[in-house]
Amino acid sequence: MRPPKSAPASSIPELQRRLRAAYPDAKCALDHIDPFQLVVATILSAQCTDARVNLTTPALFARFPDAASLASARQEEVEALIKSTGFFHNKAKHLIGLGQALMARHGGAVPADPTELGALPGVGQKTANVVLANAFGVPALAVDTHIFRVARRLGLSKATTPEKVEADLCRAFPREDWIELHHQLIFHGRRVCDARRPDCTVCPLLDLCPTGLGKVKDPHSGVRFTPAPEGLRPSGVRERGRSEMAPFQLPPVSPGGRMRHPSPIPNLKEGPPQRVVSLVPSVTELLVQWGLAARLVGRTRYCIEPKWIRNTVPMVGGTKDPDLDRIRDLAPDLVILEKDENPKSAAEALTALGIPWLALEVRTLKDVAAELRHLGAVLGVPEAGEARAAALEARLKGRCRKGSRTLVLIWKEPWMSAGPDTYLGDLLRCAGLTPIGLEGYPTLAEDDLLALAPRVILLPTEPYRFNRRHAADLQRRFPDAAVHLVDGQALTWYLSRTEAGLDLLEAL
Ligand code: SF4
Repeated sequence: MRPPKSAPASSIPELQRRLRAAYPDAKCALDHIDPFQLVVATILSAQCTDARVNLTTPALFARFPDAASLASARQEEVEALIKSTGFFHNKAKHLIGLGQALMARHGGAVPADPTELGALPGVGQKTANVVLANAFGVPALAVDTHIFRVARRLGLSKATTPEKVEADLCRAFPREDWIELHHQLIFHGRRVCDARRPDCTVCPLLDLCPTGLGKVKDPHSGVRFTPAPEGLRPSGVRERGRSEMAPFQLPPVSPGGRMRHPSPIPNLKEGPPQRVVSLVPSVTELLVQWGLAARLVGRTRYCIEPKWIRNTVPMVGGTKDPDLDRIRDLAPDLVILEKDENPKSAAEALTALGIPWLALEVRTLKDVAAELRHLGAVLGVPEAGEARAAALEARLKGRCRKGSRTLVLIWKEPWMSAGPDTYLGDLLRCAGLTPIGLEGYPTLAEDDLLALAPRVILLPTEPYRFNRRHAADLQRRFPDAAVHLVDGQALTWYLSRTEAGLDLLEAL
């Protein structure tokens, strides 16, 4: 066994020890009971989350329990059952082809031979490795997007293709550990070492990671990280047993695909929720402002304010891809979402798991006041919600007027703006500016940008990390406009920072 040049060989056993300690539960996240179900689930998982696949496969396997039934399936019927996993035309074609190939060549059984597996429709090297490892216990190390990123950040490989990273990892780690390492690195990539915002301050591998320590540029983004300050080191993650609670008043999902509000005060007979998972950064901060931090049992990796929350409240994935297994393990009695911030599929998955959730909807400052009251009532602190909502309403009275035509850019390459119908648009209006641009969050070509002829251009520091260079560049192109680099959190964190957003805009 020879470690790749970039991997510090001495740190490999320590790395494994820490990964084992951090992820003792690391395992295949796709629900299956036999090799056939696993190969089908793995094909469905392409460009789709494992949680979504797990919601899809029960109905699929009930209708097509084996290769024989799948071989004679009608394409439209399979498509209807797997539609929510995306790319369903191709996936359905592959699944039917898989059933036919298994019947024709292997008597309906899934072969345990890498070459024969790899020759099945829809089964590439990665799928073959996943099936070999998890269904047959054959040591294999399939490199997916998480492993590719984490391995390179940790300096375990400098290679630029998944196949070469796989070869480096296989050289560096004992063969008998490949299967568990595969799951551990995926868990680590999902829970801590996120593509856009790795949570280095809570990472148990920080002192072994050249990227996290800022010694090298992040191979994923090309940016050099600022090393985490001493003292901000990981603390233990609180683990709780699984919930045995009965589901309560599950809010429905409307046929149009949008999350609807649950009834105003869900199940308060048993008292306000005490184990809350927040999937909304500004709500997490609001709960702390209301003195409810002790009730927070989970947060997304973007819930980073106040800063100490990163070390004390466990992370449950991102806002768009929350880790549902992790949430279930934390046994929350309420998960808070927001309709634009979190996907509808997360609410559906929570419903399927029997976990109560509440979806906020914030598009205007009126919504902010309404949701402050709503949230205060649900969490058993109605006075806090009422006081803040009333103060905001008093501040807004008679304030709206038409000011400079203002464009808020939220992304670059391609340019994207926040339209007049969004929360940002209403914040601008209430601060005396006139939001311009198309509705929603449209992408803008260079010509569109010029045609809008803004008098004021705002560049918030998030979600895109606009900086002075971007501001100077735009100022050169729009010499008559006022270009401002502004605090993104103040501008976009509704509920907890709406007042700060108004302060900022009024001061411009
Ligand atoms: S220290 Fe940061 S970059 Fe390195 S593995 Fe941990 S989260 Fe990823």
